Amino acid sequence: TFGEPDPDVGRRKQSLADVGGLHQEIARVRELLELPLVAPGLYRAIGIRPTKGVLLCGPPGVGKTLLCRAVAAELNAEVFQVAAVDLVGGFSGETEANLRTLFSNASHHAPAMIVIDELDAVAVRRDAMASQGDVRVATQLLSLMDGLDQVDGVVVLGTSNRPDSIDEAFRRPGRLDVEIRLDVPDEQGRREILAVHTREMPLTEAAERALEGAASATAGLTGADLMHLVREIGLAAARRVSTQSVHADWSEGLDVDISVDAADVAEGL
Ligand code: ATP
Repeated sequence: TFGEPDPDVGRRKQSLADVGGLHQEIARVRELLELPLVAPGLYRAIGIRPTKGVLLCGPPGVGKTLLCRAVAAELNAEVFQVAAVDLVGGFSGETEANLRTLFSNASHHAPAMIVIDELDAVAVRRDAMASQGDVRVATQLLSLMDGLDQVDGVVVLGTSNRPDSIDEAFRRPGRLDVEIRLDVPDEQGRREILAVHTREMPLTEAAERALEGAASATAGLTGADLMHLVREIGLAAARRVSTQSVHADWSEGLDVDISVDAADVAEGL
């Protein structure tokens, strides 16, 4: 439910160590949100308005949600995360009520980060295409964001892979006025992501070398693709061999699975 801080964050906190690459993006989000979350009074003292919202854009699976959670953990902020589609309720006014619950609960747990995934589902452009209901929801969300001016230590992060479909009213000052783009990782990024996801695997030198090759052979894959790739390799190794020979098999699995996955992705581009 949207009423509670995300229990996952307490159980197994995702931290910056779980993120491969994205160094500049992390630094930027952190720089923008650290003081608004941990020292909101400072802004009042200086007489400027703190950043209240950031929009993270980029294709699916590049780590937008992961980045939010990791930065929140770093700043000791509670995370209230929802997928926008889960907020949408069937009866009239239900979505607006869900949004109010979300913001109200976050406000009681400051410092807190409200993360709305796929924000475009509720922040639709209020033009001729939008239904009355959609307009009401977008208007409610805007007014809740404006209301955060009165609340210290609560920020909103929206994620989207279709930022153009978000109503411009959401980009005004005091709302999601900063946009940060996350892209598909480059080779160094892929190397770091593979390292994150294999860090608990017992790798031999040969497997390490295979991994290095994998970083250059996987252009176009996202962090989520690479996570799945590593999982497949691990599962294949577990199925095929006894634990003693896992290492030897690992690099073999790598060749097979990368070629399959990379071909799939290439086709989808
Ligand atoms: P979507 O738009 O589909 O919600 P997203 O950009 O929010 O995608 P995440 O949900 O954060 O992507 O990523 C899914 C999973 O992929 C993460 O939980 C993580 O395991 C892995 N992943 C993605 N990017 C990275 C990364 N940069 N470093 C390490 N793991 C990553």
